[in-house]
Amino acid sequence: MTHRTVIIGAGIAGVSAASALRSAGYDGDITLLGDEPELPYRRPPVSKEIVRGDKTSDEIRIKKAEWYAAQDITLRTGVTVASIDTESRAVRLADDEALFYDHLLIATGGRARSPWEAKGVRTLRGLADIPRLQAELASGGHVIVVGAGLIGSEIAASARGLGCEVTLLETASLPLPRLLPSALGELYVDLHKSEGTDLHTGVMVADISDQAGTTVVRAVDGRTWSASVVVVAVGMEPNVELAEDAGIVTAPSNEGGGIVVDSRGRASAPGVFAAGDVANQPNAVLGGRHRVEHWQGAQNHGTAVGKVMAGGDDSFGEVPWCWSDQYGHNLQVAGWPDPSYDLVVRGSLADRTFSAFLLDDGVVRGAVAIGRPSDVRTARTWIAAARRLDPALLADESADLIDAVVPGQDERDI
Ligand SMILES: Cc1cc2nc3c(=O)[nH]c(=O)nc-3n(C[C@H](O)[C@H](O)[C@H](O)COP(=O)(O)OP(=O)(O)OC[C@H]3O[C@@H](n4cnc5c(N)ncnc54)[C@H](O)[C@@H]3O)c2cc1C
Repeated sequence: MTHRTVIIGAGIAGVSAASALRSAGYDGDITLLGDEPELPYRRPPVSKEIVRGDKTSDEIRIKKAEWYAAQDITLRTGVTVASIDTESRAVRLADDEALFYDHLLIATGGRARSPWEAKGVRTLRGLADIPRLQAELASGGHVIVVGAGLIGSEIAASARGLGCEVTLLETASLPLPRLLPSALGELYVDLHKSEGTDLHTGVMVADISDQAGTTVVRAVDGRTWSASVVVVAVGMEPNVELAEDAGIVTAPSNEGGGIVVDSRGRASAPGVFAAGDVANQPNAVLGGRHRVEHWQGAQNHGTAVGKVMAGGDDSFGEVPWCWSDQYGHNLQVAGWPDPSYDLVVRGSLADRTFSAFLLDDGVVRGAVAIGRPSDVRTARTWIAAARRLDPALLADESADLIDAVVPGQDERDI
């Protein structure tokens, strides 16, 4: 009988897994199910080029429609999986249709967290959120963005680019608190301010309500801000409910949440895998378990798990890497930041062209750069190999970056 693989979630992890299965020679059935009505698309441009109107949805497709047919992948969009039965190895769709599997990949990603409900509250996770938000931002009025993480900061920058008056509220003392060490967070305070965004940090939002035709954000300390539109960007919730209801092991939220998988993407039920933003995975490079919410991580994890489903046995574990575009500046971050690491800057923070390296007792654990992607690429290989670096040579722009590696280490991976 033909082997059957069902993939729930047609995001980058699901599509990459389907692609990897075929590349590895898998000749069974592949059914890729996505609840969004769209042909699968790249999510990162949604808060950048798409919301600004610089690109159309057709320009951000992961693959053209013909590709799925050419690969003999049955793509079904606008289809919601309602439940998984791990005993009979079947998924049940919202309309009660049952699909049987030998292998199941759960790549359901996440949804925008939204603790507050009011008429003017918006969130941004995908293309479905765009038409209304884009129309509201295009009118150039006042918008409040709650949360200065990656997505909130990008929305603020995009809204400024569209001529909106923007108020950006953040609970932490600096923007991008989960990504950047504090010296670099300061740089983003200056960037927002110099671009005219009214940034307030240390703001704990208590509630958001509709009052006399406007939306009012009230902080626990009593301060209030009001606008017709409030975009809430306070993180995402992994879509784990299908797995939980099926008795598949998930991690508690204080351990990152998500579906618990091993280094090959295998979940706790036979034949079931998980990949991408929804997977809580071990990472041999960083140590411990992580649930990574980065585009390239989801793509590479999906590919790796697809290969395992096709019969491979390679484990997955790479240095996390992400980027963010704000006000025309491309930020790249590799590794996992920790406030205790020493920061060594190469270049100029003031000119916003630099790479910065995070050292743990001389060993590189992370890198951050604006406008220097090749330094981050190099740093990723060093982080993976736990290289010891010379801070003085790192900071010295007249020295080659490669010379910062302390001699006497095994140079194979460099
Ligand atoms: C606005 C935005 C901007 C971003 N920008 C960046 C960036 O600049 N750089 C970066 O590195 N990362 C960025 N990210 C993060 C990156 O997009 C994600 O890490 C990546 O999309 C995760 O891919 P995924 O396939 O795991 O999950 P998702 O992209 O979330 O895809 C999962 C899919 O599964 C579907 N699904 C869920 N439940 C079901 C169900 N029951 N039945 C059927 N389908 C279901 C979902 O609707 C979704 O289509 C951004 C994210 C957002 C939201």
